[in-house]
Amino acid sequence: MAELANCTRCDTVFVKGLRDICNNCYKKEEAAFQKVYGFLRIRKNREATLIEIVEATGVEETLITKFVKEKRLHPTQFPNLGYPCEKCGITISSGKLCIACTEELKKELTTYEETEKRLEEVRLRETSLANTYYSIEKHKK
Ligand SMILES: [Zn+2]
Ligand SMILES: [Zn+2]
Repeated sequence: MAELANCTRCDTVFVKGLRDICNNCYKKEEAAFQKVYGFLRIRKNREATLIEIVEATGVEETLITKFVKEKRLHPTQFPNLGYPCEKCGITISSGKLCIACTEELKKELTTYEETEKRLEEVRLRETSLANTYYSIEKHKK
């Protein structure tokens, strides 16, 4: 039985397949991609930034970002193509965060893990201490 879903772009109900958008939107996205790609293929446009592409093609920024994330548009080919880091807004071309923010996040995570480990050690020490007292108590009897 075919599974129905709502298109993430236009909300139309469609038969769910490999895509999360309906056929209509898919066609629109493809047309947009061809437009952007056609624009970027022109040598003088190679180094266009996201904003310049939006202005020249009329394609939404989020859609171009999607193409970059899907690796359909390669930053190696088009050096200024990128989208903002979710944390600091600097232009990036892969993942969700820039290198600096990724590092920072990693550090935060390590600190968190260390705190957890220390708490766990304290907990363990308290448990073993309690056990020692318990055995001493038992010995007395
Ligand atoms: Zn749709
Ligand atoms: Zn960042």
